[in-house]
Amino acid sequence: MIFDLHFDLECYLTEHRALKQRFHSLKRRDIKRHGDIPQFKASGYKLFVANIFPFTKNGKGRYQYRPLEFPELISKISRFKDWISEYDEFELIFTKKDLSQILKKKDKFGIILGIEGLDFLKDISELDKLYNLGVRCFGLNWRDDSNLSGSSTGNKKFGLTKFGKEVVRYLGSLKCILDLAHASEASIAETEKIYPSSVIFSHTGVWEVYKTKRNVKFALANRFRDRGFLMGICLVEDSIAKSGEINFKKWYRHISYLEEKGEVAAIGTDFFGTWFNRSIPEFRNAEGFGRILRANNVHPDILFRRAYNLFMKNLP
Ligand SMILES: [Zn+2]
Repeated sequence: MIFDLHFDLECYLTEHRALKQRFHSLKRRDIKRHGDIPQFKASGYKLFVANIFPFTKNGKGRYQYRPLEFPELISKISRFKDWISEYDEFELIFTKKDLSQILKKKDKFGIILGIEGLDFLKDISELDKLYNLGVRCFGLNWRDDSNLSGSSTGNKKFGLTKFGKEVVRYLGSLKCILDLAHASEASIAETEKIYPSSVIFSHTGVWEVYKTKRNVKFALANRFRDRGFLMGICLVEDSIAKSGEINFKKWYRHISYLEEKGEVAAIGTDFFGTWFNRSIPEFRNAEGFGRILRANNVHPDILFRRAYNLFMKNLP
């Protein structure tokens, strides 16, 4: 079974044009898109953190986005939930109980709602509203610096602002998971001082293995060891290796590095979050990815168990 810490299913709904993937029923197998129900079945997918993308296009440029206004975000979440509910195969996971129940349900997939970046946040009370709508995984940053915190690909390289600290402390009082993928080093270091629970780096590579802005330093992440943390190794080309040198072995080096250091490697593909057109064919959809994981006997702890345990510990 696979527990994917970062699968942007919501982006498929709203950004399929930008992703250049045809939008049609998830009941049909279409290996030109990153995943669908037949692919999930074939690959052993069971659980996803499905991230809501809290930005919208702001101009013609490929990378021009602005944070959503809060009411826009709320309607995006409900649109996603409505879409998901069209399929009997999907169940939303809000609690430990939901999580353990889904394992007993054959041919059903559990979806945990996440949000990638809190740039939209203006008031702490909005976190409660999101939590009440079922969001359980909060990503501090996306690719730009925000009012809360610096991003690893931002300009200023700062850490948490005063409001950012307030938000991190507040999230620490909720039963949820904080996702520090995309956060700047200073943001990660400052969060470590004030956040009491487990964190994930949902979709990343290991900086010590391949040095890019996007990748997280194991040495920094490891400061969360006493509370528990996982690094979801992603399929994003820029995180794995030099373009043209991406293959399973190169990808697995990130996993083996973490396996040597302790039990913190997990999976966080970023499917539907980017293109993957420079990758090997097996990294271009859930079905191929499942096949290559099986062929290489990747351990169930990495694929599933650790992520499951971490969510069991931190969900209400
Ligand atoms: Zn991302």
